[in-house]
Amino acid sequence: MKCTNSPINKIKYNNMNLYVKRDDLLSKEFSGNKARKFYYFLKQDFKNINKIISYGSPQANSLYSFSQLAKLKDVKLDFYVNHISSYLKENPQGNYAHALKLAANIIEVDADNIQDFIEDKILPNEKNAIFIEEGGRVKEAEYGIKILADEILLWAEDNNIKDTKKLKIILPSGTGTTSLFLQKNLKYEVLTCSCVGDDEYLKFQFNKLDKNISNHPTIMPKRKKYHFGKLYKEFYLKYLLLKKDIEFDLLYDPLGFLCFDDYLEKNHDNDCSYLYIHQGGIIGNESMLPRYERKYKDI
Ligand SMILES: *Cc1c(COP(=O)(O)O)cnc(C)c1O
Repeated sequence: MKCTNSPINKIKYNNMNLYVKRDDLLSKEFSGNKARKFYYFLKQDFKNINKIISYGSPQANSLYSFSQLAKLKDVKLDFYVNHISSYLKENPQGNYAHALKLAANIIEVDADNIQDFIEDKILPNEKNAIFIEEGGRVKEAEYGIKILADEILLWAEDNNIKDTKKLKIILPSGTGTTSLFLQKNLKYEVLTCSCVGDDEYLKFQFNKLDKNISNHPTIMPKRKKYHFGKLYKEFYLKYLLLKKDIEFDLLYDPLGFLCFDDYLEKNHDNDCSYLYIHQGGIIGNESMLPRYERKYKDI
């Protein structure tokens, strides 16, 4: 299965050209940045492994991608969650519904720290399982993200971008794994923003993966504090505007673009090319979009 070499499209954005790396189109089953982050595991020989174990939110994009990975590798998936709302149980949708269809085992546990719980209580009895941290926040993710970086380098060469200051890479962060390994493997500046926690949390994540701060992306400031997964009118408006050209996700990308707007206001350079990384997540929109449509009926 081909899941590298995504295309790059050009769209008009804020009256300028914006290039978009379409990792949402990597392959039908396995796409977005999770496909890049899990690429190492896809290629790895699973000879003595019969199960993947991870954890996170029951609506996480990673749950869906883990389910696909398990199916492609012909192993089971045990995915631990803190809580599944009764609404979601009765109305499965989005990543949760797709993961169930792919036979994911989604297990509710009452634990303050799920990772500790898994490491102490589950892994000692699972000799043939591979454990992957929440959202693929692991060193192995670099393998697939380096391939993404190499694709960007080749594209820049083909487009005659020689000055390393004349190309900027933009992508929003959750754990920061994708943006960090991109910056580590690229000489162009990587611009990101923190979507899940605050900027300090994101820096902490960067440090956990790599102490060398010259490998850390630039964090674009946010206008205000946003809570991950909450609905914001400006997010929805951004989504609708972008959707005229390309559909982006509703959790990370609207904030990525809002921060990028502020960045451009201060730093816009006519000779610079801007490449936004589309990290997928469209299946998550199946559950986010109805919520937005209900809340902002009149838009
Ligand atoms: C997981 C995800 C992210 C965050 O990626 P990190 O590597 O954790 O920073 C961003 N966008 C989408 C669509 C995702 O699914």
